[in-house]
This record gives sequence, C-alpha cells and structure tokens, in this order.
Amino acid sequence: MFRELRRKKQLLSREETEAVLTRGSAGVLALSGDEDYPYAVPISYVYSGGSLYFHCARSGHKLDAIERSEKASFCVIDQDQIVPEEYTTYFRSVIAFGRIRILEDEEERREAIEKLALKYAPDSTPEERQQEIQREWERLCILGLEIEHVTGKGGH
Ligand SMILES: Cc1cc2nc3c(=O)[nH]c(=O)nc-3n(C[C@H](O)[C@H](O)[C@H](O)COP(=O)(O)OP(=O)(O)OC[C@H]3O[C@@H](n4cnc5c(N)ncnc54)[C@H](O)[C@@H]3O)c2cc1C
Repeated sequence: MFRELRRKKQLLSREETEAVLTRGSAGVLALSGDEDYPYAVPISYVYSGGSLYFHCARSGHKLDAIERSEKASFCVIDQDQIVPEEYTTYFRSVIAFGRIRILEDEEERREAIEKLALKYAPDSTPEERQQEIQREWERLCILGLEIEHVTGKGGH
C-alpha cells in the first residue's frame, strides 16, 4: 500500500535514512486532526529499533487526534541548502509512516523516556537524568510510533 519514490536515484539507503532519523533533533508529526483537517505538529523525538518515541503533555490537539486514529506520519528535514543559481535546494529528508500509541507499560515508558533524556541531555549524569525523569514522571505522556514504511530522499 505504501508508495516508493518515483525518482529512484534520489532514494537514500537504509543506513543513510536511519542516520537522518538518529541525528535529527525534531520532526513534524502528521495526524488526523479536528474535522479531518490534517494536524502537522513539530516535535522532538528519538529513533530506536524501528520506532520513534515522543513525550508530551497528557492532553491537547495531538492526543485527541491520536485517539481518533492511530495512523501517523513523521517527517524529518536533514538538509535544506538553497542554491539560488540553480533555482533549487539540495535537500535530504525522511518520511516515515506507522501507527502511534500512548505507551502504558511501565517498563516500556521508562525505556523510551531514558532514550529521550540521553539524546537531548547527553552531558548530564545518569543521576541527573533520573532525577528529572522522576520529577516529571506523573505528568508525562509517552508516545511510540512503530514504523511500517520509511523512505529517505536526497540528491546531493
Ligand atoms: C522544535 C520543536 C520541538 C518540540 N518538541 C516538543 C516535545 O518534545 N514535546 C511536546 O509536547 N511538544 C513539543 N513541541 C511543541 C509542539 O509543537 C506542540 O506545541 C505541543 O506538543 C502541544 O501540542 P498540542 O497538540 O497538545 O497543542 P494544543 O495546545 O492542543 O494545540 C492547539 C492549537 O495550537 C496550535 N499549535 C500547537 N502547537 C503549535 C506550534 N508548535 N506552533 C504553532 N501552533 C501550534 C495549533 O493550531 C493547535 O491546533 C516542540 C515544538 C518545536 C517547534
């Protein structure tokens, strides 16, 4: 059901695609929003083992949309180098499709939040990260998006 790139030459390898997902600091999560308007919301994430993990507050547009439909896509722009003389941009991006859900299992939640904390605060000590996680724990909603299809595209 999922589409492949029409311009095969621009298809990134699996390794390059995963590297973009690993080094990206934010992407745009697309959900089915209110009254079928697509809701595309920027968000931080971590990529691990074929899934994307996010953290957010326990209510809002995003969560209402997820309740309505688990189907989601996520886009990360890795490079956007404008080349005026060619009237183009040398870009590199990734788009993933999959199903998103609120993580309920205690162990799964903890693993995901620890990965997020390590990605965004790599220089803090394990103790500092645990302290911050503990402080926020009750308020945190953690989302997992299991990737079903992913493509990377770039030419330069
Ligand atoms: C680089 C980046 C990283 C972020 N990382 C995170 C993260 O890790 N976790 C997290 O929870 N949030 C993050 N945010 C904020 C995120 O984009 C949302 O604002 C937030 O998650 C609330 O979403 P919501 O659907 O619950 O908002 P609601 O408050 O329910 O949204 C109500 C309405 O406000 C508008 N709106 C919401 N968010 C934005 C926005 N970002 N820009 C413009 N209009 C908006 C929309 O019209 C939306 O329908 C990040 C934003 C950026 C730009």
